[in-house]
Amino acid sequence: MARQFFVGGNFKMNPGSVEQKKNIIDILNQADLDPSTEVVIAPPALYLIPLKGLVRKEIQLAAQNCYFKTSGAFTGEISPTQLVDAGIPYVILGHSERRTLFHETSEFVGNKTKAALDASLKVILCVGETLAEREARKTTEVVNAQLQAVVDILKDTAYWSNIVIAYEPVWAIGTGKVATAVQAQDAHAEIRQFLKTRVSESVAETTRVIYGGSVTAANCKELATQPDVDGFLVGGASLKPEFVNIINAMK
Ligand code: PGA
Repeated sequence: MARQFFVGGNFKMNPGSVEQKKNIIDILNQADLDPSTEVVIAPPALYLIPLKGLVRKEIQLAAQNCYFKTSGAFTGEISPTQLVDAGIPYVILGHSERRTLFHETSEFVGNKTKAALDASLKVILCVGETLAEREARKTTEVVNAQLQAVVDILKDTAYWSNIVIAYEPVWAIGTGKVATAVQAQDAHAEIRQFLKTRVSESVAETTRVIYGGSVTAANCKELATQPDVDGFLVGGASLKPEFVNIINAMK
């Protein structure tokens, strides 16, 4: 079964002003976008609702994070139910910046993934190794352990139809050092193999595995032609006009 190409724009804690955000939205709204690509943008939480009203309806919104509780005394957090209530369909979980800067463990990411899916959000689940781990030839081991923590908590294989896995090597994020097409394809094939053995053959075949880390208009086409690369999670370049070229990588 063909997997629909998926491109996400992770704005992170950018850009600074509402005006700058409007510029990006104007570019997306006026662009000739490949209708066969699923496109999601993830602005800071504060801008999810206003941007949902401004962006063309084919582009969906994602939160950059959420908590695993429905409500309560959790200052600063947003719950999956609140995102659903606000009409936000997607959430990014397990981004390397959350894992590293905010000390999120794989188990915590697993708990949040289950809570998000239970609330009927779709999840962009990020995994990836550091440079030291790659150099120690531990990429597969590290990524499999991050995925296993999610498998352990999601007992039902049906959950996987609402997960997009983003393979994002930490050394490639925001560094300008993109993975080669071969490195990306190898890691994605390993992820699919993991899904086949630990979840099911059909989940392995149907789950989108997208690549993230210094994706640009210049490097996206070669990556996009790899058999196991089903799209991108784009940081820096999602704030620039070239995001349109990345969305249209398969065109
Ligand atoms: P980058 O970020 O494209 O700026 O490397 C990717 C990400 O963090 O998702």
